[in-house]
Amino acid sequence: MSNPKSFPKLAVFDLDDTLVHEGFADEHPILCDDTLGILTMLRDMGVKIALASHNHKSEIILQNSDIRHYFDSVQAYHDYTDKQSHLKNIMKELSIGPKQTVFFDDLIENLNGVARLGVKVVPVSSIRGVTMSDIRTVFNI
Ligand SMILES: [Mg+2]
Repeated sequence: MSNPKSFPKLAVFDLDDTLVHEGFADEHPILCDDTLGILTMLRDMGVKIALASHNHKSEIILQNSDIRHYFDSVQAYHDYTDKQSHLKNIMKELSIGPKQTVFFDDLIENLNGVARLGVKVVPVSSIRGVTMSDIRTVFNI
């Protein structure tokens, strides 16, 4: 049984090899197979959606991929860190705490850094990107 009260209120995604393939090399990358379905489902569930990326081209990539409108917050800059500052900025902007936040990324160092904030982190296959199965597990649906 799904329990809406247990849903995270905020889902934060990495971009490259999580939502899109080859975004660092291409401003018109291919979306991962489940990206559109996931973004649509989370929006329909009332979950806030954010991007935490080291790719400074993220805004143009989101626009070129026609998915920018799904995102309530976009933090895209490379500061040679593990994305803790990205997550802090997003949670502050959206007034949502770490216990109500989940973060998806294909790089373990990013996941480990963000986990130290108390955020639930989910490893993503860099081959497939984030999958509907990943989402169903986290959101218990
Ligand atoms: Mg990545």
